[in-house]
Amino acid sequence: MSFCDLAVSGVAELQPYVPGKPIEELQRQYGVRDVIKLASNENPLGPSKAALAAVALSSKEMTRYPDGNGYALKMALADKNQLAPEQITLGNGSNDVLELVARAFAGAGDEVVYSEHAFAVYPIVTKAIGATGVVAAAKDYGHDLAAILKAITSRTKIVFIANPNNPTGTWIAAAEIKAFLEKVPENVLVVLDEAYVEYLEQQENTIAWLQDFHNLIITRTFSKAYGLAGLRIGYAMSHPEVADLLNRVRQPFNANSLAQAAAVAALGDDNYLQQAREINAAGMKQLIAGFEKLALQYIPSKGNFITVNVHSNAAEVFDDLLYEGVIVRPVANYGLPQHLRVSIGLPAENERFLEALTKVLGRGE
Ligand SMILES: *Cc1c(COP(=O)(O)O)cnc(C)c1O
Repeated sequence: MSFCDLAVSGVAELQPYVPGKPIEELQRQYGVRDVIKLASNENPLGPSKAALAAVALSSKEMTRYPDGNGYALKMALADKNQLAPEQITLGNGSNDVLELVARAFAGAGDEVVYSEHAFAVYPIVTKAIGATGVVAAAKDYGHDLAAILKAITSRTKIVFIANPNNPTGTWIAAAEIKAFLEKVPENVLVVLDEAYVEYLEQQENTIAWLQDFHNLIITRTFSKAYGLAGLRIGYAMSHPEVADLLNRVRQPFNANSLAQAAAVAALGDDNYLQQAREINAAGMKQLIAGFEKLALQYIPSKGNFITVNVHSNAAEVFDDLLYEGVIVRPVANYGLPQHLRVSIGLPAENERFLEALTKVLGRGE
């Protein structure tokens, strides 16, 4: 007997999510020092001082369960985003709310649509519950909304769209998404995953669309621009009835107390967010200039990362970079075997990465 035969059929065929290599692991396995990690789209600034202070204060109450309703954080989010707290669902990272959507609305026999090269968590949450993932072909590495529309059938329950998308950094204009929402049947839920929305130069008020499109769920996170990836806190904004259903499948204490406190503080720290945006814009320019000097093609990105074509076996380049103490992200599992994804770091980190890449590609001399 194989336990694979016992598992839910989708689980047996799943590949586990491959996270960025932790710094300590590289130090342990390769014996290299001064490691820099540009592999998980983390904020290179470190956490905001306000968030750190909130965590210190909150940690004194660590013996108690968190507020299972997340009152303070929901109030802060509702206030900032002009919606009712009843429309918000908190998660242990936004990955958690993506899973809640799948569990609440899809099951065996149902279809869930997402794009080629889209975020790896969509197939995981889909297959884990025995639903069928339907992949719409990408266009220029990005989401092709026409192809996604075509992929919708009477069995489709959910469509996942990441905007900007990870790992490609591609982005769809708000007007196009709105036109798409107008064409999607109202009994199909559309999850608009906006994990990188804070980095967009032009901020579109997508949250206002919730009034017109009751099947729309917008997810956001504190892991990226807000710099709290290690604490695990994200949220969904939706119609209150949808939020009520998500709440039924949610673990009662899925958002921990330190994360809730830090998120409230981070939301109020506009300076930090502004600094994060500026360092990201500057680092993006720095990396692009470096790629152009190396004559490497890259996918133009609106996120805090950029995916570059190294024109060879990217797995080898990735490995060679590890020996230089630089961790980036291979994306072969996203159907991009020649590309590497690099998170934007501090100026000195970006420089070190470019120097290491130049050396590894043998273009230094
Ligand atoms: C990083 C990321 C998330 C956020 O994950 P968390 O669970 O909130 O840390 C969600 N969606 C996409 C596309 C991402 O890249």
